[in-house]
Amino acid sequence: MDTTPEPVSRRTFATCAAAAAAGFVLTACGPKRLYDVPRERLRQLVRDMEREYSSKYGKDVTVSDAGPQPGVLFGYALDISRCIGCRRCVYACVEENNQSRDPQVHWIRVLQMDKAHGVDFAHADEYYEPELVPEDGKFYVPVQCQQCEDPPCTKVCPTGATWKEKDGIVVIDYDWCIGCRCCMAACPYGARHFNWKAPSIASKDVNPSMHYLGNRPRPKGVVEKCTFCIQRVRAGRYPACVEVCPVGARKFGNLLDPDSEIRYIIEHKRVMVLKEELNTMPKFFYFYAT
Ligand code: SF4
Ligand code: SF4
Repeated sequence: MDTTPEPVSRRTFATCAAAAAAGFVLTACGPKRLYDVPRERLRQLVRDMEREYSSKYGKDVTVSDAGPQPGVLFGYALDISRCIGCRRCVYACVEENNQSRDPQVHWIRVLQMDKAHGVDFAHADEYYEPELVPEDGKFYVPVQCQQCEDPPCTKVCPTGATWKEKDGIVVIDYDWCIGCRCCMAACPYGARHFNWKAPSIASKDVNPSMHYLGNRPRPKGVVEKCTFCIQRVRAGRYPACVEVCPVGARKFGNLLDPDSEIRYIIEHKRVMVLKEELNTMPKFFYFYAT
């Protein structure tokens, strides 16, 4: 397994330092982040979003402002021995989370690896295109935001536009993101994606069931990533990738519930996390059930 953190170049450092100065001015003088907005004002902002998006896409859009529930800490587990590399999870995620179709943005990447070499990111192929999957001699490791308990991405954000919620979901306030991409440099998992162009989705394809910290439309110039489908899981549903996986490789639940499937997996299977030595403490666990 590749254990080397990405080096931070001098240019990245200089860019982040300049962004930090800009962020200081913004946080000192600017309007409030959604994180700091009082509840009533937030409801009003969310209703404004519903009006704006409904008119833009010509359909009834709802924007949830559901917050974290007490006693809930979300966790994810992925059975590497089951995944067949079909990428249905990738495209279910695109549809559920209103990711850009042109250019394409994918929050989930499925990496193809050689059984002979084991988990080896240096030689993984993200762009495999066989006629049929799984291919002989290969196995598959899907990667997305690991929802780190100690996330490096939030620490470097100069405007405080990204943070970890009480249920463990790391979120982004798209109105406060200044697109400096310091978080992308800090994330050791390549989980964050930058909108170089304005995301484009046909109105008919827009998922109208949104959350203000998740799958609502993003503008050009901001960063986005997986939120464990915050709009679903805070309403008691599974993430779209869990529901669509044809082989049941994906598991999800409340880490604080001793009777949950996710706790069973962690307590009874041999689990691993990616780049454990960085102490980011992912809440995304990989395991081999068979
Ligand atoms: S849908 Fe399931 S089997 Fe297919 S690539 Fe994703 S995790 Fe693997
Ligand atoms: S995987 Fe990357 S983007 Fe997700 S919480 Fe960890 S450091 Fe942040």
